[in-house]
Amino acid sequence: MTTINIEPDMQQKLALLSDEATDEVTDTPSEQSIRAGIQHDTGFIYNASRERGGKVKLFKVLQTNACRYACKYCFTSCAIRRKRTTFKPDELATTFVSLNRAKRAEGLFLSSGIVPDANTTMEKMLATVEQLRVREKYRGYIHIKLIPGADQEYIERAVQLADRVSLNLEAPNAERLAILAPGKEFAESMWQRMVWAANLIEQSRREGRQGARSLTTQFVVGAAGESDRELLMTVERAHHELSLKRAYFSAFHPIEQSPFNEMPAEDPMRAFRLYQADFMLRDYGFTFDEFAFGAEGFLLRDRTPKQAWADAHPEYFPVEINQAPRHMLLRIPGIGPQSAERIRAVQGTTKMRDLGQLKKLGVVTNWAAPYILLDGRQILVQSGLWEGLALDGRGSQ
Ligand code: SF4
Repeated sequence: MTTINIEPDMQQKLALLSDEATDEVTDTPSEQSIRAGIQHDTGFIYNASRERGGKVKLFKVLQTNACRYACKYCFTSCAIRRKRTTFKPDELATTFVSLNRAKRAEGLFLSSGIVPDANTTMEKMLATVEQLRVREKYRGYIHIKLIPGADQEYIERAVQLADRVSLNLEAPNAERLAILAPGKEFAESMWQRMVWAANLIEQSRREGRQGARSLTTQFVVGAAGESDRELLMTVERAHHELSLKRAYFSAFHPIEQSPFNEMPAEDPMRAFRLYQADFMLRDYGFTFDEFAFGAEGFLLRDRTPKQAWADAHPEYFPVEINQAPRHMLLRIPGIGPQSAERIRAVQGTTKMRDLGQLKKLGVVTNWAAPYILLDGRQILVQSGLWEGLALDGRGSQ
Protein backbone atom coordinates (compact mmCIF):
# COMPACT_ATOMS: atom_id res chain seq x y z
CA MET A 1 0.00 0.00 0.00
CA THR A 2 1.30 3.43 -0.93
CA THR A 3 2.25 5.80 1.93
CA ILE A 4 0.77 9.27 1.92
CA ASN A 5 0.91 12.18 4.29
CA ILE A 6 -2.18 11.56 6.42
CA GLU A 7 -2.82 10.63 10.06
CA PRO A 8 -2.03 6.99 11.04
CA ASP A 9 -5.62 6.17 12.04
CA MET A 10 -6.78 7.57 8.72
CA GLN A 11 -4.24 5.29 7.00
CA GLN A 12 -5.95 2.33 8.64
CA LYS A 13 -9.38 3.44 7.52
CA LEU A 14 -7.99 4.10 4.09
CA ALA A 15 -6.54 0.61 3.88
CA LEU A 16 -9.86 -1.02 4.82
CA LEU A 17 -12.23 1.20 2.92
CA SER A 18 -10.24 1.37 -0.29
CA ASP A 19 -9.51 -2.36 -0.24
CA GLU A 20 -13.20 -3.22 -0.07
CA ALA A 21 -14.05 -0.88 -2.94
CA THR A 22 -12.15 -3.09 -5.39
CA ASP A 23 -15.22 -4.83 -6.78
CA GLU A 24 -16.49 -1.54 -8.18
CA VAL A 25 -15.27 -1.71 -11.77
CA THR A 26 -13.96 1.54 -13.20
CA ASP A 27 -12.43 0.41 -16.47
CA THR A 28 -12.69 -2.25 -19.13
CA PRO A 29 -9.93 -4.86 -19.06
CA SER A 30 -8.02 -5.49 -22.26
CA GLU A 31 -8.18 -8.83 -24.03
CA GLN A 32 -4.42 -9.13 -23.59
CA SER A 33 -4.64 -8.72 -19.80
CA ILE A 34 -7.40 -11.34 -19.59
CA ARG A 35 -5.45 -13.83 -21.71
CA ALA A 36 -2.36 -13.16 -19.59
CA GLY A 37 -4.38 -13.61 -16.36
CA ILE A 38 -3.52 -10.10 -15.17
CA GLN A 39 -5.77 -8.85 -12.37
CA HIS A 40 -7.15 -5.33 -12.00
CA ASP A 41 -4.94 -2.71 -10.39
CA THR A 42 -4.64 -3.01 -6.64
CA GLY A 43 -4.17 -0.31 -3.99
CA PHE A 44 -6.49 2.64 -3.74
CA ILE A 45 -5.68 4.47 -6.95
CA TYR A 46 -7.04 3.05 -10.20
CA ASN A 47 -6.51 4.02 -13.79
CA ALA A 48 -9.86 4.64 -15.44
CA SER A 49 -10.52 5.67 -19.04
CA ARG A 50 -11.62 9.24 -19.62
CA GLU A 51 -14.70 9.62 -21.78
CA ARG A 52 -12.68 11.61 -24.31
CA GLY A 53 -9.59 9.42 -24.28
CA GLY A 54 -6.60 9.03 -21.98
CA LYS A 55 -6.58 7.84 -18.39
CA VAL A 56 -7.52 9.39 -15.07
CA LYS A 57 -6.12 8.32 -11.66
CA LEU A 58 -9.20 7.58 -9.53
CA PHE A 59 -9.27 7.28 -5.76
CA LYS A 60 -11.80 4.50 -5.21
CA VAL A 61 -13.16 4.25 -1.68
CA LEU A 62 -16.15 3.38 0.51
CA GLN A 63 -17.68 5.85 2.95
CA THR A 64 -18.25 2.85 5.21
CA ASN A 65 -17.81 -0.91 5.00
CA ALA A 66 -20.68 -1.48 7.43
CA CYS A 67 -23.77 -2.77 5.64
CA ARG A 68 -27.18 -4.02 6.64
CA TYR A 69 -27.46 -6.30 3.58
CA ALA A 70 -26.04 -9.76 3.00
CA CYS A 71 -25.52 -9.84 -0.77
CA LYS A 72 -24.01 -13.23 -1.45
CA TYR A 73 -21.23 -12.07 -3.81
CA CYS A 74 -20.04 -9.15 -1.67
CA PHE A 75 -17.02 -8.77 0.57
CA THR A 76 -18.86 -6.10 2.61
CA SER A 77 -21.89 -8.29 3.35
CA CYS A 78 -23.02 -8.20 6.99
CA ALA A 79 -22.94 -12.01 6.97
CA ILE A 80 -19.12 -11.93 6.80
CA ARG A 81 -17.08 -11.37 9.95
CA ARG A 82 -14.67 -8.50 9.41
CA LYS A 83 -13.60 -5.21 10.92
CA ARG A 84 -16.03 -2.39 10.13
CA THR A 85 -15.17 1.26 9.98
CA THR A 86 -16.57 4.51 8.61
CA PHE A 87 -15.04 7.70 7.26
CA LYS A 88 -16.64 10.85 8.65
CA PRO A 89 -17.31 13.22 5.73
CA ASP A 90 -14.60 15.59 6.94
CA GLU A 91 -12.04 12.80 7.24
CA LEU A 92 -12.69 11.46 3.79
CA ALA A 93 -12.70 14.91 2.16
CA THR A 94 -9.38 15.73 3.84
CA THR A 95 -7.86 12.41 2.82
CA PHE A 96 -8.86 12.90 -0.79
CA VAL A 97 -7.56 16.47 -0.85
CA SER A 98 -4.16 15.34 0.42
CA LEU A 99 -4.01 12.70 -2.33
CA ASN A 100 -5.13 15.22 -4.91
CA ARG A 101 -2.62 17.88 -3.84
CA ALA A 102 0.16 15.28 -3.92
CA LYS A 103 -0.97 14.56 -7.50
CA ARG A 104 -1.67 10.96 -6.50
CA ALA A 105 -5.37 11.09 -7.36
CA GLU A 106 -7.09 13.14 -10.03
CA GLY A 107 -10.65 12.04 -9.29
CA LEU A 108 -12.87 10.41 -6.67
CA PHE A 109 -15.06 7.33 -7.00
CA LEU A 110 -17.24 7.15 -3.89
CA SER A 111 -19.33 4.14 -2.95
CA SER A 112 -20.59 2.81 0.38
CA GLY A 113 -22.08 -0.01 2.36
CA ILE A 114 -25.66 0.74 3.41
CA VAL A 115 -26.22 1.43 7.10
CA PRO A 116 -28.59 2.05 8.80
CA ASP A 117 -30.61 2.90 5.68
CA ALA A 118 -30.28 4.31 2.17
CA ASN A 119 -31.00 7.96 3.00
CA THR A 120 -28.60 8.14 5.95
CA THR A 121 -25.89 6.56 3.82
CA MET A 122 -26.41 9.02 1.01
CA GLU A 123 -26.44 11.93 3.46
CA LYS A 124 -22.91 11.01 4.57
CA MET A 125 -21.66 10.54 1.02
CA LEU A 126 -23.16 13.84 -0.10
CA ALA A 127 -21.71 15.64 2.93
CA THR A 128 -18.26 14.38 1.88
CA VAL A 129 -18.72 15.58 -1.67
CA GLU A 130 -20.19 18.93 -0.55
CA GLN A 131 -17.11 19.54 1.56
CA LEU A 132 -14.96 18.91 -1.47
CA ARG A 133 -17.00 21.08 -3.81
CA VAL A 134 -17.77 23.94 -1.38
CA ARG A 135 -15.08 24.05 1.33
CA GLU A 136 -12.18 22.80 -0.77
CA LYS A 137 -13.43 24.27 -4.06
CA TYR A 138 -12.45 21.03 -5.78
CA ARG A 139 -13.69 21.10 -9.39
CA GLY A 140 -12.26 17.79 -10.59
CA TYR A 141 -13.96 14.49 -11.40
CA ILE A 142 -16.34 12.87 -8.91
CA HIS A 143 -18.32 9.67 -9.44
CA ILE A 144 -21.02 8.95 -6.83
CA LYS A 145 -22.66 5.57 -6.44
CA LEU A 146 -26.39 6.01 -5.86
CA ILE A 147 -27.81 3.93 -3.05
CA PRO A 148 -30.82 1.73 -3.92
CA GLY A 149 -33.96 2.99 -2.21
CA ALA A 150 -32.69 6.53 -1.54
CA ASP A 151 -35.27 9.34 -1.76
CA GLN A 152 -35.41 11.57 -4.81
CA GLU A 153 -33.91 14.59 -3.04
CA TYR A 154 -30.66 12.65 -2.48
CA ILE A 155 -30.54 11.46 -6.08
CA GLU A 156 -31.08 15.07 -7.16
CA ARG A 157 -28.24 16.39 -4.98
CA ALA A 158 -25.89 13.67 -6.22
CA VAL A 159 -26.65 14.63 -9.83
CA GLN A 160 -25.92 18.29 -8.97
CA LEU A 161 -22.58 17.54 -7.32
CA ALA A 162 -21.07 14.69 -9.35
CA ASP A 163 -19.71 14.31 -12.87
CA ARG A 164 -21.06 10.80 -13.12
CA VAL A 165 -23.58 8.84 -11.06
CA SER A 166 -24.25 5.12 -11.14
CA LEU A 167 -26.41 2.52 -9.51
CA ASN A 168 -25.40 -1.13 -9.54
CA LEU A 169 -28.30 -3.25 -10.81
CA GLU A 170 -26.14 -6.34 -10.10
CA ALA A 171 -28.59 -8.67 -11.88
CA PRO A 172 -30.64 -8.42 -15.08
CA ASN A 173 -34.05 -8.80 -13.42
CA ALA A 174 -35.87 -9.26 -10.11
CA GLU A 175 -35.69 -13.07 -10.20
CA ARG A 176 -31.91 -13.14 -10.58
CA LEU A 177 -31.45 -10.36 -8.03
CA ALA A 178 -33.36 -12.42 -5.44
CA ILE A 179 -30.70 -15.13 -5.81
CA LEU A 180 -27.81 -12.69 -5.38
CA ALA A 181 -29.07 -10.14 -2.92
CA PRO A 182 -31.89 -11.12 -0.55
CA GLY A 183 -33.60 -7.99 0.73
CA LYS A 184 -32.91 -5.87 -2.34
CA GLU A 185 -35.75 -4.93 -4.66
CA PHE A 186 -35.27 -4.38 -8.38
CA ALA A 187 -38.11 -2.34 -9.87
CA GLU A 188 -38.72 0.44 -7.34
CA SER A 189 -35.51 0.67 -5.35
CA MET A 190 -33.14 0.32 -8.28
CA TRP A 191 -34.64 0.81 -11.74
CA GLN A 192 -36.92 3.66 -10.63
CA ARG A 193 -33.98 5.47 -8.99
CA MET A 194 -32.08 5.17 -12.26
CA VAL A 195 -35.07 6.64 -14.11
CA TRP A 196 -35.01 9.63 -11.70
CA ALA A 197 -31.28 10.06 -12.21
CA ALA A 198 -31.58 9.83 -16.01
CA ASN A 199 -34.35 12.45 -16.05
CA LEU A 200 -32.40 14.79 -13.76
CA ILE A 201 -29.25 14.45 -15.89
CA GLU A 202 -31.26 15.20 -19.03
CA GLN A 203 -32.87 18.23 -17.38
CA SER A 204 -29.59 19.70 -16.16
CA ARG A 205 -28.00 19.12 -19.57
CA ARG A 206 -30.96 20.86 -21.27
CA GLU A 207 -30.74 23.82 -18.91
CA GLY A 208 -26.95 24.03 -19.25
CA ARG A 209 -26.41 23.54 -15.52
CA GLN A 210 -23.38 22.00 -13.83
CA GLY A 211 -23.73 18.41 -12.73
CA ALA A 212 -23.54 14.79 -13.74
CA ARG A 213 -23.51 14.10 -17.45
CA SER A 214 -23.69 10.34 -17.41
CA LEU A 215 -25.28 7.36 -15.73
CA THR A 216 -23.75 3.88 -15.58
CA THR A 217 -24.51 0.54 -13.98
CA GLN A 218 -22.71 -2.66 -13.05
CA PHE A 219 -23.65 -6.35 -13.13
CA VAL A 220 -22.22 -9.34 -11.30
CA VAL A 221 -21.67 -11.98 -13.99
CA GLY A 222 -21.92 -15.69 -13.35
CA ALA A 223 -23.34 -16.00 -9.83
CA ALA A 224 -27.10 -16.16 -10.38
CA GLY A 225 -27.38 -18.51 -13.36
CA GLU A 226 -28.21 -15.57 -15.61
CA SER A 227 -27.53 -15.84 -19.35
CA ASP A 228 -25.86 -13.26 -21.56
CA ARG A 229 -29.19 -12.94 -23.34
CA GLU A 230 -30.87 -11.81 -20.08
CA LEU A 231 -28.08 -9.38 -19.28
CA LEU A 232 -27.98 -7.80 -22.73
CA MET A 233 -31.77 -7.51 -22.90
CA THR A 234 -31.63 -5.37 -19.74
CA VAL A 235 -28.60 -3.43 -21.01
CA GLU A 236 -30.41 -2.57 -24.25
CA ARG A 237 -33.48 -1.47 -22.27
CA ALA A 238 -31.22 0.73 -20.12
CA HIS A 239 -29.68 2.32 -23.22
CA HIS A 240 -33.15 3.15 -24.56
CA GLU A 241 -34.98 4.14 -21.39
CA LEU A 242 -32.15 5.63 -19.31
CA SER A 243 -29.64 6.82 -21.94
CA LEU A 244 -27.17 4.61 -20.10
CA LYS A 245 -23.59 5.67 -20.78
CA ARG A 246 -22.28 2.17 -20.37
CA ALA A 247 -22.57 -1.05 -18.40
CA TYR A 248 -19.76 -2.61 -16.36
CA PHE A 249 -19.48 -6.34 -15.86
CA SER A 250 -17.77 -7.85 -12.83
CA ALA A 251 -16.94 -11.54 -13.32
CA PHE A 252 -17.98 -13.34 -10.14
CA HIS A 253 -15.25 -14.63 -7.82
CA PRO A 254 -16.06 -16.44 -4.58
CA ILE A 255 -15.56 -14.65 -1.26
CA GLU A 256 -14.49 -16.55 1.84
CA GLN A 257 -17.26 -17.01 4.47
CA SER A 258 -19.93 -16.11 1.90
CA PRO A 259 -22.73 -18.52 0.90
CA PHE A 260 -21.20 -18.63 -2.61
CA ASN A 261 -17.76 -19.57 -1.27
CA GLU A 262 -17.82 -22.94 -3.08
CA MET A 263 -19.07 -21.57 -6.37
CA PRO A 264 -16.48 -21.45 -9.19
CA ALA A 265 -15.19 -18.08 -10.36
CA GLU A 266 -16.62 -16.86 -13.66
CA ASP A 267 -14.43 -16.79 -16.77
CA PRO A 268 -13.27 -13.15 -17.23
CA MET A 269 -13.56 -13.66 -20.99
CA ARG A 270 -17.34 -13.90 -20.55
CA ALA A 271 -17.40 -10.41 -19.03
CA PHE A 272 -15.13 -9.16 -21.81
CA ARG A 273 -17.51 -10.43 -24.53
CA LEU A 274 -20.35 -8.65 -22.69
CA TYR A 275 -18.35 -5.39 -22.79
CA GLN A 276 -17.92 -5.81 -26.53
CA ALA A 277 -21.65 -6.46 -26.94
CA ASP A 278 -22.49 -3.35 -24.89
CA PHE A 279 -20.26 -1.24 -27.15
CA MET A 280 -22.02 -2.72 -30.18
CA LEU A 281 -25.36 -1.53 -28.79
CA ARG A 282 -23.99 1.87 -27.83
CA ASP A 283 -21.58 2.84 -30.60
CA TYR A 284 -21.94 0.47 -33.54
CA GLY A 285 -25.66 0.62 -34.40
CA PHE A 286 -26.48 -2.98 -33.46
CA THR A 287 -29.69 -4.05 -31.74
CA PHE A 288 -30.22 -6.80 -29.19
CA ASP A 289 -32.01 -8.98 -31.79
CA GLU A 290 -28.84 -9.15 -33.87
CA PHE A 291 -26.63 -10.89 -31.33
CA ALA A 292 -25.75 -14.49 -32.15
CA PHE A 293 -26.33 -16.45 -28.93
CA GLY A 294 -25.55 -20.11 -28.42
CA ALA A 295 -28.24 -22.58 -27.39
CA GLU A 296 -28.09 -21.61 -23.69
CA GLY A 297 -28.27 -17.90 -24.40
CA PHE A 298 -24.53 -17.16 -24.10
CA LEU A 299 -22.33 -15.21 -26.49
CA LEU A 300 -19.61 -17.23 -28.21
CA ARG A 301 -16.27 -16.94 -26.38
CA ASP A 302 -13.98 -17.93 -29.27
CA ARG A 303 -14.75 -14.80 -31.32
CA THR A 304 -16.05 -11.29 -30.77
CA PRO A 305 -19.82 -10.74 -30.91
CA LYS A 306 -19.24 -8.73 -34.07
CA GLN A 307 -17.31 -11.56 -35.71
CA ALA A 308 -20.14 -13.92 -34.69
CA TRP A 309 -22.67 -11.61 -36.34
CA ALA A 310 -20.58 -11.22 -39.52
CA ASP A 311 -20.05 -15.00 -39.78
CA ALA A 312 -23.83 -15.50 -39.51
CA HIS A 313 -24.45 -12.94 -42.31
CA PRO A 314 -22.22 -13.79 -45.29
CA GLU A 315 -24.74 -12.01 -47.55
CA TYR A 316 -23.29 -8.61 -46.47
CA PHE A 317 -19.62 -9.48 -47.12
CA PRO A 318 -17.07 -8.78 -48.45
CA VAL A 319 -17.50 -4.99 -48.20
CA GLU A 320 -15.58 -2.66 -50.54
CA ILE A 321 -13.74 -0.34 -48.15
CA ASN A 322 -13.31 2.45 -50.70
CA GLN A 323 -17.07 2.96 -51.00
CA ALA A 324 -18.65 1.67 -47.80
CA PRO A 325 -20.90 4.03 -45.83
CA ARG A 326 -20.15 4.54 -42.11
CA HIS A 327 -22.88 2.22 -40.85
CA MET A 328 -21.48 -0.63 -42.97
CA LEU A 329 -17.87 0.05 -41.96
CA LEU A 330 -19.00 -0.30 -38.33
CA ARG A 331 -20.31 -3.79 -39.11
CA ILE A 332 -16.85 -5.02 -40.19
CA PRO A 333 -14.83 -6.82 -37.48
CA GLY A 334 -11.71 -4.84 -36.65
CA ILE A 335 -13.21 -1.43 -37.51
CA GLY A 336 -14.40 0.83 -34.70
CA PRO A 337 -16.00 4.29 -34.63
CA GLN A 338 -12.68 6.13 -34.88
CA SER A 339 -11.22 4.03 -37.69
CA ALA A 340 -14.56 4.23 -39.54
CA GLU A 341 -14.38 8.05 -39.34
CA ARG A 342 -10.81 8.05 -40.62
CA ILE A 343 -11.69 5.77 -43.53
CA ARG A 344 -14.67 7.99 -44.44
CA ALA A 345 -12.38 11.04 -44.33
CA VAL A 346 -10.01 9.65 -46.98
CA GLN A 347 -12.47 7.71 -49.15
CA GLY A 348 -12.89 10.49 -51.72
CA THR A 349 -9.20 11.32 -52.05
CA THR A 350 -7.12 8.17 -51.44
CA LYS A 351 -7.63 4.78 -53.03
CA MET A 352 -7.04 2.13 -50.37
CA ARG A 353 -5.31 -0.89 -51.87
CA ASP A 354 -3.38 -2.58 -49.07
CA LEU A 355 -3.78 -3.50 -45.42
CA GLY A 356 -0.89 -1.24 -44.38
CA GLN A 357 -2.99 1.80 -45.30
CA LEU A 358 -5.87 0.51 -43.18
CA LYS A 359 -3.59 -0.29 -40.26
CA LYS A 360 -2.41 3.33 -40.22
CA LEU A 361 -6.07 4.34 -39.86
CA GLY A 362 -6.45 2.17 -36.75
CA VAL A 363 -8.04 -0.93 -38.30
CA VAL A 364 -7.25 -4.35 -36.77
CA THR A 365 -6.39 -5.67 -40.20
CA ASN A 366 -6.19 -9.39 -39.54
CA TRP A 367 -9.71 -9.26 -38.11
CA ALA A 368 -11.04 -7.15 -40.98
CA ALA A 369 -9.28 -8.88 -43.91
CA PRO A 370 -11.70 -11.81 -44.39
CA TYR A 371 -14.64 -9.42 -44.64
CA ILE A 372 -13.38 -6.68 -46.97
CA LEU A 373 -12.34 -5.80 -50.52
CA LEU A 374 -9.61 -3.23 -51.22
CA ASP A 375 -10.13 -1.76 -54.67
CA GLY A 376 -11.96 -4.92 -55.72
CA ARG A 377 -9.43 -7.37 -54.28
CA GLN A 378 -9.67 -9.55 -51.22
CA ILE A 379 -6.37 -9.73 -49.32
CA LEU A 380 -5.94 -12.69 -47.04
CA VAL A 381 -3.59 -12.64 -44.07
CA GLN A 382 -1.90 -15.52 -42.33
CA SER A 383 -4.33 -16.90 -39.76
CA GLY A 384 -3.33 -17.10 -36.13
CA LEU A 385 -1.80 -13.63 -36.11
CA TRP A 386 -3.24 -11.60 -33.28
CA GLU A 387 -2.47 -7.94 -33.10
CA GLY A 388 -4.11 -7.43 -29.76
CA LEU A 389 -6.28 -4.52 -28.86
CA ALA A 390 -7.19 -2.63 -25.73
CA LEU A 391 -10.96 -2.24 -25.82
CA ASP A 392 -11.79 1.11 -24.32
CA GLY A 393 -15.05 2.10 -25.91
CA ARG A 394 -13.36 3.91 -28.74
CA GLY A 395 -11.27 1.09 -30.19
CA SER A 396 -12.25 -1.38 -32.85
CA GLN A 397 -13.67 -4.82 -32.25
S1 SF4 B 1 -25.71 -3.61 -0.32
FE1 SF4 B 1 -23.78 -3.25 -1.41
S2 SF4 B 1 -22.20 -3.21 0.17
FE2 SF4 B 1 -24.02 -4.09 1.11
S3 SF4 B 1 -23.76 -6.32 0.91
FE3 SF4 B 1 -24.94 -5.63 -0.88
S4 SF4 B 1 -23.44 -5.19 -2.50
FE4 SF4 B 1 -22.34 -5.33 -0.51
